[in-house]
Amino acid sequence: MVSYTGNTGSMLLLLVLTLITLSLSHTDFCYDDGQCDPYAWGDYYPSCHPLLDAHHSPIDLGQQEIRDGGLDALELSGFNSTPTGRWRLTNQGHSVVLEVGGGLSVSGGGLPGSYRTVQLHFHWGSASSNGSEHTLLQQRFPMEMHIISVKSTYPNLTAALDDPTGLAVLAVFIDLVYVDNDNFLQISSALPFITYKGQEKSIRPFPLLTLLPHANLSQYYRYHGSLTTPPCSQAVLWTVYEVPITISWQQFELFISGIYSTQEGAEHAVLLQNNFRHIHPAYSTVYASRHAHLLSSTPQQTTLTLTLTLTLTTLIPALGLIS
Ligand SMILES: [Zn+2]
Repeated sequence: MVSYTGNTGSMLLLLVLTLITLSLSHTDFCYDDGQCDPYAWGDYYPSCHPLLDAHHSPIDLGQQEIRDGGLDALELSGFNSTPTGRWRLTNQGHSVVLEVGGGLSVSGGGLPGSYRTVQLHFHWGSASSNGSEHTLLQQRFPMEMHIISVKSTYPNLTAALDDPTGLAVLAVFIDLVYVDNDNFLQISSALPFITYKGQEKSIRPFPLLTLLPHANLSQYYRYHGSLTTPPCSQAVLWTVYEVPITISWQQFELFISGIYSTQEGAEHAVLLQNNFRHIHPAYSTVYASRHAHLLSSTPQQTTLTLTLTLTLTTLIPALGLIS
């Protein structure tokens, strides 16, 4: 009898735990509803709670970095060639994700080893608000692209989440101009085919380097942070490039007005907009690469002021296209 009661208790506990697990796994995160937006993520994903862990992303950049003269441009293996096969572009409801297959990796630039590139995705705002995740001197860009690479010793992304240096993410700001970015056409022309959550489109591979600020790859910031989506794992070595790439307003429009967070046929169709997490304080040191511009390697005040002035003059007008 005692044994039976014990078994019943265990079974009840198991049932409760299963229900809790099912409940959590069915709690999808979102950006536009107080029940599931970034400020509520911690209720369901404990590591997203900003008070529990220090290394959260995104952060503001440009003001408190320490220059590291050893941080040169990363080695981007395979980024300048056209892989064979097909890539898959998917509307995942939280972002548009491009899975890039094999043959691409990043290393160097202070990274502890080689990282296999698996996917890239985007964060964007709306017609009236910018949507990059990181900010530069507290200014938000219209969009931000994240290229995700997994430390080569792990079989997949999930396996790397317990390692503080398990992932290397390249972040690229995206600004808006009036001219199409031809290098972006493979992605932008496929967006109308993945309007709703769950839809995907096969696209022809292209050299990924064409999506990067390839004339300014030695200018970046580096810090230890987290995923910016649940489970917010503190597993990311961030490389945030200082100089943005550009796309046209028309290409931007395809994101903000053409991608829904809901499935086709949903009773209430919801556009996916403003899919960015709020800024967190940087607890770990943020390093500026050897050639990053916002900091002067010369301690003289006049040079620093001149550098900042020139950089701000160059950058700030581009930041304000949407404000
Ligand atoms: Zn991201």
